[in-house]
Amino acid sequence: MYCPFCGAQDTKVIDSRLVADGGQVRRRRECLSCNERFTTFETAELVMPRLIKSDGTREPFDENKLRAGMMRALEKRPVSLEDLEAAISRICHQLRATGEREVPARELGERVMEALQQLDDVAYVRFASVYRSFQDISEFAAEVDRLRKAGGKKGGGKGDA
Ligand SMILES: [Zn+2]
Repeated sequence: MYCPFCGAQDTKVIDSRLVADGGQVRRRRECLSCNERFTTFETAELVMPRLIKSDGTREPFDENKLRAGMMRALEKRPVSLEDLEAAISRICHQLRATGEREVPARELGERVMEALQQLDDVAYVRFASVYRSFQDISEFAAEVDRLRKAGGKKGGGKGDA
């Protein structure tokens, strides 16, 4: 690809490694003209099932939307981008593995919640509170309480041991 700094056409790959559980290739490149270095990520583009929304309408699966939603939940949480990308790869893989051309959007939501629960309890509660739109604060508190009792998992419970 062209150098993003000077537009030169010749860049060379100086490092290449698998990231996101092997779902991505990260390449360090160096421009042969200006010697600037930059990084590219490569992922396979595979057909994802379409999502069936609760009102019956269909929409294409949008990985950027998924990433944005998860990042919002993970804001200021101690979870690396690498772990987030791995979780997104897993979710995409799970959806493709259904072999369906269309899956309920709810199913994607459930998988996102599962993934967030493994990454970070706070992010999970944030996402779940929006996704399930908890009817009242007591229901929300019950979920937080349940998590606290399950306790001591990754990301959560730092101060209360
Ligand atoms: Zn350049």
